[in-house]
Amino acid sequence: MAHGRRGSLAGSGVTHGIAVGRAHLLAPSELDVRQYTIERRDVLHEIGRLTTAFNVVREELEHLKSGIAPNAPSEVLAFLDLHRLILGDALLAEAPRDLIRGKLINAEWALTIQLEHLVKQFDAIDDEYLRERSTDVRQVVERVVNALSEGRPTRVAIPKQLAAGKRLVLIAQDLAPADVLHLRDRADIDLAGFVTELGGPTSHTAILARSLGLPAIVGAGGARVLIEENDLVVIDADSDAVIVNPSDDELADFYQRIRDEGEHRVQLRKLRGRQARTKDGIAIELHANIELPEDARDALEAGADGIGLFRSEFLFMDRDELPTENEQYEAYASVSRAMKGKPVLIRTLDIGADKVLTETARESLGLGRGAPRPESNPALGLRAIRYCLAYPELFLTQLRAILRASEVGTVRILVPMLAHMHEVEQVLAFVAQAKQQLRERKQKYDGRIQIGGMVEVPAAALSVPQLVKRLKFLSIGTNDLIQYTLAIDRADSSVAHLYDHLHPAVLRLISQTIKGCIKAKVPISVCGELAGELEMTELLLGMGLRQYSMHPSQILPIKERLFGLSIKDAARLSAKVLRESDPVKIKSVLERLVARSR
Ligand code: PEP
Ligand code: MG
Repeated sequence: MAHGRRGSLAGSGVTHGIAVGRAHLLAPSELDVRQYTIERRDVLHEIGRLTTAFNVVREELEHLKSGIAPNAPSEVLAFLDLHRLILGDALLAEAPRDLIRGKLINAEWALTIQLEHLVKQFDAIDDEYLRERSTDVRQVVERVVNALSEGRPTRVAIPKQLAAGKRLVLIAQDLAPADVLHLRDRADIDLAGFVTELGGPTSHTAILARSLGLPAIVGAGGARVLIEENDLVVIDADSDAVIVNPSDDELADFYQRIRDEGEHRVQLRKLRGRQARTKDGIAIELHANIELPEDARDALEAGADGIGLFRSEFLFMDRDELPTENEQYEAYASVSRAMKGKPVLIRTLDIGADKVLTETARESLGLGRGAPRPESNPALGLRAIRYCLAYPELFLTQLRAILRASEVGTVRILVPMLAHMHEVEQVLAFVAQAKQQLRERKQKYDGRIQIGGMVEVPAAALSVPQLVKRLKFLSIGTNDLIQYTLAIDRADSSVAHLYDHLHPAVLRLISQTIKGCIKAKVPISVCGELAGELEMTELLLGMGLRQYSMHPSQILPIKERLFGLSIKDAARLSAKVLRESDPVKIKSVLERLVARSR
């Protein structure tokens, strides 16, 4: 059955489960490489960007080399050495600098012009082996282009036609959230899962993969070196591993595990209509996180108590025209209708960082094409509520659409990334203005619509007593709270090992936020990925949490776990964990508890 090089790679698993398919390697889309002219005074800055990107890639290749498993095939090492040679070649390293100086163009553009020039030269070579090395030059250039994007993944080129009738595992250096949205709409692709060399497990790309139910491994350095087109690939998301060309015995074991998991899912479905409760009878609410309106179906299927987080920004991405008020209204109202009176928390636009609008859409907001310099720290830049407050028309349009949808169900407004009380005041003023506009148009809305905020930055977690005076509920976005507490870019695989949800500082902030809300009698939920982690259920319960919001696929497993837990034991566990300062010890305690419950 197996052919080609065998081996395995480690990364971070996304979505539980196993996927088997044939590899298809993806390259970044050249169309998406930003092209713009620069001023002469910016030449040195642009050359500096290029030099930094070359250095980043040099380190990346070194890092990959040092991480090669001892049993990895020898070609992997040889390819990495070849890529280092290409990177150091003057034709690639020097020529683009001359193009920047001579043509006054940005680094990405210069690099792709030189790439096309080199590819043409390779195409003219007689020797087939040497001719094919143009693929390696292309791969090295992709890495540099990616490094130039400073953490924001460039889009990949997804071919119009992909091998029909085959389950595919896509292999890419990185995928942008918009790429995953695009894949989701491609009915012709039988996608088993994907593997990326970059990216962290709580990046928005990973979150979307979960919403598609796609097993994936992110941050699997060297994937595009080890894996070749059409290799048989197994994604074992539960073990954070990619297995390439497994033996027949290994493959049989994987298929057995897929069957076992299927049977467990059938068992879990029996819990669907039951209210989640602890062993001692305390009711717990389990809500769903969704990315697009049609995901409400999965939430209902899983028996969710409501939508705890509707990531509305995905309606705005992967398109050149921003959704109108009416289109947004239809989307929000359809979710609200589908949930039949159960609460639906619509999060206002959380655009920025790794979730970007297309250039044309940005232009329609008056942002201009090809802004001369990308933000240097997009996660700390104009993101989420900051973006909305900077573009009032964009914000007001969305607020009117949400308010109108509140007429057809129980809709609430959830505001992301709050850090300052003046942001809260501005939001409340904008909501009042949107209501006034609707009254003038004689359009209806729920006058008592509740407005709540996300606790995603430490400043918010430390301001709960103030926040609860002005907001009706809070929801902890642990994905960002961890990112901003530990200063770790959640989409950056090189620091993924430092992204630790069990860091005592993170746990203290979560616990304090929950306690602050309980004291003020204000509803509190957790809607970050932690809420759907089995090992975190008891700890969060012990901290006082009674409302969780997670990807729909996790609702039934978490419900099953809650049935076996008692509030008293959970409180004891939480007190013990909060006294502990070593995350490794905390992890082993939590894992042991989950293992014992199986
Ligand atoms: C979070 O940050 O935990 C969250 C739920 O929001 P997002 O993952 O969309 O940033
Ligand atoms: Mg967030």
